[in-house]
Amino acid sequence: MCHFLYGDKAAMLAFLVISNVLWFSVLVSWVFTFIRGPGIMPCRIPPYELSNFIHEGEKFKNVKNTDVSDEKSDISSESSLTVPLNRNVIPPPDIFECDYNGLPFWCSECSTLKLLRCHHSSVKDRCIPMFDHFCTFVGSTIGKDNFGFFLYFLFSMQTLMYFTCISIIVYSGVWGHLHAALIVFLITTGFMAILVGNLAFNTVGDIYLGQTTIERLQRTRTKKKIAKSQSNENDQTDLGEYVNVQHPTNRKLRVLVKLLPSDKPYNNGFRKNLRLWYTDFTRLGSPQQILMFQNSMFSEKFKESISERINSGNYVIFGSQSKLQSSSPSHLKIKDM
Ligand SMILES: [Zn+2]
Repeated sequence: MCHFLYGDKAAMLAFLVISNVLWFSVLVSWVFTFIRGPGIMPCRIPPYELSNFIHEGEKFKNVKNTDVSDEKSDISSESSLTVPLNRNVIPPPDIFECDYNGLPFWCSECSTLKLLRCHHSSVKDRCIPMFDHFCTFVGSTIGKDNFGFFLYFLFSMQTLMYFTCISIIVYSGVWGHLHAALIVFLITTGFMAILVGNLAFNTVGDIYLGQTTIERLQRTRTKKKIAKSQSNENDQTDLGEYVNVQHPTNRKLRVLVKLLPSDKPYNNGFRKNLRLWYTDFTRLGSPQQILMFQNSMFSEKFKESISERINSGNYVIFGSQSKLQSSSPSHLKIKDM
C-alpha cells in the first residue's frame, strides 16, 4: 500500500482523477436517466377507420373467382391518408403492425392506438414510446426520452468497473500480493463488469438490429415456443406478427402479410437507429404528426420486402379471413405489458 500511496504518486494521481471522472459520469447519467424518465405518448390516437375495408374484404370473400385486378376501374386515385378526418376515427396509414385479425394494437388503459412502438408501463401507468425495459439497476423505465442517458450510464459504469479491475491487477504487481479484501472486491467488481458488459452488448446489438429489448425478448419467447412444438425452425416460422398494408392496386382493399423471423421492420441501419432514440417526439403533438412519424420508422428495405411478398401473392385480403372480429375499439386486441 505504501508503494501505491507514496512510491508512485503520478500513477496514484492518475488513478484518482480517472476514477473520479468516471464516477461523476456514472452519477450524472444515472440522475438524468432517472429524473428525465422514459417519456409518455404525447396524445391519444383514435382508432383507424377500417370498417369500409372490412366490408370490402367480406364482399371479396363472398364473390367467388373475383379477380382483384378487375376492380381497377373502381380504384380511387385518392390515397387513404387523404380521406377527411372525423372526431372518432382516423384514416389508416399505408402500413401498420397488427394482430392476426389485421387490427391495430390498442391500449384500453390510455384509450389510444399503440404507435411509436409503445407499450403500456404498469409502473408509469401510461404508454411509453420506444419502450425498452424497466431497469432495476437505475430504478427507472427506459424509453425514448432517457435511452440516450441510459446508454451513457451503461458505458460509464462498464468503463469504471474495468478500469478499477485493471488498476487492482496492475498494482498487485507493485504490492507483490493482494489483500484478501481487495481480492473479494476484485471478484465482485469483475462479476458486475461482466453483467453490465452483457447488458451493454445486448443494447448495442438491439440498436444495430433496430429492435428494443422488449421486442427482442417477445420474439425470442415466441421462437422458443414454436421450437418446442416443431421439430425444426426455419424462415417460414409463424411468429404471429403481421402487418396490414394498403392493397397495391385496389384502394378499397387492404391485405395482411405475415412477418418472417428475418424481418426487422424498424432496422434503418445502425446510425439512423441510434438517431431515432434521440428524436424529440415531444414536437409530435397531433395524431397526424405521430402517424407520419410512425410511417417513417419502417425501413425501406422492409417495405420493399413486404411489397415483393404481396406481388408474389403471399397475403390474405383483410376482412376475408374467417377469424375477423369487430373493428370497434373495445374489441381491439390489447397487448399490454
Ligand atoms: Zn397505455
